[in-house]
Amino acid sequence: MSRTNRIHSIAVIPGDGIGKEVVPEGLRVLEAAAKRYGFELKAEEHAFASCDYYLKHGAMMPEDWKERVSGRDAIFFGAVGWPDTVPDHISLWGSLIQFRREFDQYVNLRPVRLMPGVPSPLAGRQPGDIDFYVVRENTEGEYSSIGGRMFPGTEREVVIQETVMSRVGVDRILAYAFDLARSRPKKHLTSATKSNGISITMPYWDERVEAMAANYPDVRWDKYHIDILVAHFVLNPDRFDVVVGSNLFGDILSDLGPACTGTIGIAPSGNINPEGRFPSLFEPVHGSAPDIAGQALANPVGQIWSAAMMLEHLGETEAAAGIVAAIETVLAEPSLRTRDLGGRASTSECGRAVAEALS
Ligand code: ATP
Ligand code: MG
Repeated sequence: MSRTNRIHSIAVIPGDGIGKEVVPEGLRVLEAAAKRYGFELKAEEHAFASCDYYLKHGAMMPEDWKERVSGRDAIFFGAVGWPDTVPDHISLWGSLIQFRREFDQYVNLRPVRLMPGVPSPLAGRQPGDIDFYVVRENTEGEYSSIGGRMFPGTEREVVIQETVMSRVGVDRILAYAFDLARSRPKKHLTSATKSNGISITMPYWDERVEAMAANYPDVRWDKYHIDILVAHFVLNPDRFDVVVGSNLFGDILSDLGPACTGTIGIAPSGNINPEGRFPSLFEPVHGSAPDIAGQALANPVGQIWSAAMMLEHLGETEAAAGIVAAIETVLAEPSLRTRDLGGRASTSECGRAVAEALS
């Protein structure tokens, strides 16, 4: 990790569709940030992890992909998928899922923040009212693939799938979430559970939360069953600061959160290996959007905000905050918004405006 030196080396993977349009805008803003805040960025772009690459080579990535990116400080990713030519399960499993697994990116992090100029489906909320993080466990839990069918096709058919929670796996995501809560002004953590219905794994999760909380006496914490928690996301989003959940609950919350704050075009995410043993990956929440690709309509803000998350991870806290502030300046100006936000700016007009607001 280059937290102490200020030369950051990143692998850039635009991928497919609008990924190839929004990644250049993210890089434009990163370069402006480097100039303004005085760090150095070494970016190497890769054409693999795209469906074009798959059609040429019969695989999403070259065999030596790991060596090519493992020395980097981070991966700046666009979007992958072009279902007309390559089925989604091939493109996704051959790229993003490989990074998550091989690089032990056990944290999925998504900010939920209401921005100016972005209509929220939640009536009467103002920017500043909603500002929290969802932390999802990204490697175990409900998505174990352990189980199977017994007596398939018969009247006695039974289907079982196991949830796996290890102490290491649970504790490391909880430690990350508590650390994050500790770093924020409200110092508040909420845990998603369902220990009244899921009677073995979820009580264990609760137990580990309580044990971890003992190490963080300065962090207030509470827990909600997932069914009422989703209702609070919609009814009382101002209640949250850091929300942590297992793989399944985190998956649900990390889509619901950004949905509560408006368009999918602005939401960023990080797949993080916090110790920095492997590179972490930053990408917008949206996909490759084949329906608008090639028309300069894509909103680049999700990619640009992902760049800010990447800089935060690399220790460039000031630059990260500067980018988020520049995004807010641009979104507040109707003429600089893209079509999904009711504006008429093109992808690069919006991206350039953020870069200018930064410098
Ligand atoms: P995934 O690839 O995660 O499966 P998906 O293919 O279901 O996602 P997206 O590619 O994100 O979905 O597109 C969903 C809808 O949102 C599409 O109508 C698309 O045009 C729109 N959309 C996605 N990203 C953006 C963006 N950056 N700007 C504007 N519209 C977008
Ligand atoms: Mg898709």
